[in-house]
Amino acid sequence: MQDDSHLMSIALDEARRAAERGEVPVGAVVVETTSGRILATAGNRTEALADPTAHAEILALRAAARTRGRPRLPDCTLVVTLEPCAMCAAAISFARIERLVFGATDPKGGAVLHGPRFYEQPTCHHRPEVAYGTGAEDASALLQAFFRARRGSERTQRRPSPEALEKDL
Ligand SMILES: [Zn+2]
Repeated sequence: MQDDSHLMSIALDEARRAAERGEVPVGAVVVETTSGRILATAGNRTEALADPTAHAEILALRAAARTRGRPRLPDCTLVVTLEPCAMCAAAISFARIERLVFGATDPKGGAVLHGPRFYEQPTCHHRPEVAYGTGAEDASALLQAFFRARRGSERTQRRPSPEALEKDL
């Protein structure tokens, strides 16, 4: 069994690579809980694939299930840098993931500790064991830097400096 912090560092690497591609920096790993064998790693690719469902967790679950040739992964752990959204929380449940480990909590978009609290609903038929907090600071720092940079570039685009306007004339 690999320890959570090692797996989280792999997920964080995927998140960094996502940021380099201009994607929201979230990364995920699917691993066999007992052997520690990594089945899949992924970062967000919603922009690259023009796919609103291409979250890191979904891509990692799909790749792991494809590797296994089965839709369910009941002996696996999914490690992700950020608290899963409602879509991903549901997909993790459908995949019968044994254990979910996430880094930073997400009060705005999370669905495990926040919002719909998916696994606490009577309509949820499989609840993974949940752990969180490992790598949370690194995961949050990546997201904050990404959104800060994006806000900065939007501001420049909206209000060009007088010099830039002159150049355009
Ligand atoms: Zn998601």
